[in-house]
Amino acid sequence: MPPKVLVVGSANADLVVAVDRRPGGGETVLGADTVVLPGGKGANTAVAAAKLGASVALLGAVGDDQYGALLRESLRGAGVRAELVRTADRPTGIAYITVTPDGENSIVVSPGANAQVSSSDVDAAVEALRGARVLVCSLEVPVASVEHAVALAAEAGVRPLVNLSPVAELSARTLAALDPLVVNEHEAGWLLGEPDPADDAVTLAGRLLELGPRSVVITLGARGAVVATADGAHRVAAPSVRAVDTTGAGDAFAGALAVRLAEGDGLAEAAGYAARVAATSVTRNGAQPSYPSTDEVVA
Ligand code: ADP
Repeated sequence: MPPKVLVVGSANADLVVAVDRRPGGGETVLGADTVVLPGGKGANTAVAAAKLGASVALLGAVGDDQYGALLRESLRGAGVRAELVRTADRPTGIAYITVTPDGENSIVVSPGANAQVSSSDVDAAVEALRGARVLVCSLEVPVASVEHAVALAAEAGVRPLVNLSPVAELSARTLAALDPLVVNEHEAGWLLGEPDPADDAVTLAGRLLELGPRSVVITLGARGAVVATADGAHRVAAPSVRAVDTTGAGDAFAGALAVRLAEGDGLAEAAGYAARVAATSVTRNGAQPSYPSTDEVVA
């Protein structure tokens, strides 16, 4: 049976170290013990979707090393199908994350195996892709592979969702297939050049729609999200929660959105549910460990 949700994206080991302050150039500072966590936008999205009970597969790549094994284990534990996660001849991707006492992160990503996710990997997965209801992509893997997956999905009548994170230039053809394009405020600003600071998120969503996608979602952190289609734009409320760690909130949102779209919800309804899932995730530490099952999602 093909998965209902196919995720094309990265799997990284997150190496997290707490520091009092970040070192400047040429400087060394001592930090706390390193914490190693499964991460990467693709793996996070797949885990978020699988924890909600959906049938989900990840298409990606890891290295033949301890971090690759850790990532495979976390996918398995969450119920994500990993038969399309290839073992590449590069090391597993690593995110080097320093966290300061104010909660701010600085991150260097070494893509490693993720850089080898190729259009031929997508071709090799074409049966799973054609059988899925929703394709979800993020951009820690090569843009060409994402664009190829979106083109195949569109041809097969599979709904393509791209979470444009990190930002990357997409062709007009790819943009025109997206339903929806999902961005945060920073990514929306990048796509629109210099947006007028007076423009509110509803206006920005309308302007993003003019770039060609069939629908748009802008996520707004604690302020929720805005959803826009040809029928108009409206706001999606975020439940008010005590946020302890927002790492991976955007990935939780994308995973939950895909699950609900695959189940046939309308975009606004699906985004409302995704906001509840993402809000639940920010009340707990980490990315993947913070993602809720359906009965843990806040009201
Ligand atoms: P990203 O993590 O990609 O930067 P956002 O910060 O916009 O994305 O967060 C994604 C989604 O997570 C938001 O649309 C919202 O639904 C939820 N979220 C994030 N932070 C909070 C918060 N403090 N309270 C409630 N929901 C939040």
